[in-house]
Amino acid sequence: MDFALSDTERAIRDTARDFITREVMPLEQELLRRERAHRPGLEHSELRELQLKARKFGFWGLATPEEYGGMDLPAVTQSLIWTELGRSFVPFRFGGEADNILFHANDEQKREYLVPTIEGERRSCFAITEPGAGSDAANIKLSARRDGDDWILNGEKTFITGGHDADFAIVIAVTDREKGARHGGATAFLVDRAMGWRSEFIQTMGEGGPASLVFDDVRVPGRNILGEPGQGFSLGMEWIGKGRYIIPSHAVGIAERALSMAIDYANTRETFGAKIGTNQAIQWMIADSETELEAARWLILRAAWTVEQGMDPRHASSMAKLYGAGMVNRVVDRVLQIHGGMGYTRELPIERWYRQVRLYRIFEGTDEMQRLIISRDLLRGYTKLGGHLA
Ligand SMILES: Cc1cc2nc3c(=O)[nH]c(=O)nc-3n(C[C@H](O)[C@H](O)[C@H](O)COP(=O)(O)OP(=O)(O)OC[C@H]3O[C@@H](n4cnc5c(N)ncnc54)[C@H](O)[C@@H]3O)c2cc1C
Repeated sequence: MDFALSDTERAIRDTARDFITREVMPLEQELLRRERAHRPGLEHSELRELQLKARKFGFWGLATPEEYGGMDLPAVTQSLIWTELGRSFVPFRFGGEADNILFHANDEQKREYLVPTIEGERRSCFAITEPGAGSDAANIKLSARRDGDDWILNGEKTFITGGHDADFAIVIAVTDREKGARHGGATAFLVDRAMGWRSEFIQTMGEGGPASLVFDDVRVPGRNILGEPGQGFSLGMEWIGKGRYIIPSHAVGIAERALSMAIDYANTRETFGAKIGTNQAIQWMIADSETELEAARWLILRAAWTVEQGMDPRHASSMAKLYGAGMVNRVVDRVLQIHGGMGYTRELPIERWYRQVRLYRIFEGTDEMQRLIISRDLLRGYTKLGGHLA
């Protein structure tokens, strides 16, 4: 058994770490200042500038195939890089990416949607959730009715990340109510904002926020179907599945950075004439955090490795998402506690993380949905206890 990184994995990880340390972390204090003044921490133009700088270092399209100019990195390397990204609270990510399901586009759609998204000239959002259908995504109601060669879309999507800025949306719509969404009755459409949908920004406890999208007789040409008619639900699940090891990888980076702050603070802050780190109460919070962080790291790397091996990653990814999301919430909570009143202020990023990571237990499958998947796999015998070692 080999728990070490390969030389290539380590080299790529270290280069990413270097870039983030030199180019991204210096922006952190300004980001906090701006957010305290209720301004966006990082403007889109600044993000783009950083992404283009990273491109010169070779970081462009972590998951994007080489034929589209990307790095096409194996899943474990992608996971390691997302952990590096998590270390800075500046909402930076490398450019050159597109939604994984956009690669199902035909040649014409690739020219119109995929390539400009990779190049950062167009901005997409992915929309399946509705006011009446979140966890129960098969219950979506937004309808697409055929009209000659076109389709007419009616309904509402909600909580759509990037929905207020996107110029097109990948929309999962019901095209055959009788069949039901899960059984071939849903189709994915590429819908330009210019075709008539409108968005409303949703305030959340995090910085930034998603949007609701309203479709009122929006006419979409038949050539804008993504993939095959009736394939919408499985494309939706494919989109969501991708995040299941990326989100907890990011969580590991956040937890590591936060915990390192807590260790520094415990070694410097004094009460009653001694460093607070000399108290068992503080030591135990640090010990529990490190242990859980390490457990999450290996669950996540194993999930990414499963993807890389071409094995079915769903069970491993659900455990990684469930545990990683819970872990980062517990760690950030303890780190805040260790910092006392300072942890609660907006001088430090801790309260920001506290708000941010709460989302990790909700989006792209709630804790409860991950538990449902994990237990169902076992109860129905889809997977064995002990995973690939069994
Ligand atoms: C900031 C943000 C960004 C998002 N981005 C996107 C996006 O880009 N695109 C998109 O399509 N969606 C997006 N979502 C939607 C997100 O995926 C849903 O919010 C999530 O799937 C939960 O759905 P819901 O909010 O409707 O909760 P519900 O499904 O109504 O669930 C409410 C509660 O009941 C629990 N629950 C539900 N069913 C069961 C059950 N059978 N057993 C036990 N417990 C159950 C849930 O776990 C949850 O705790 C985003 C959400 C947020 C908050």
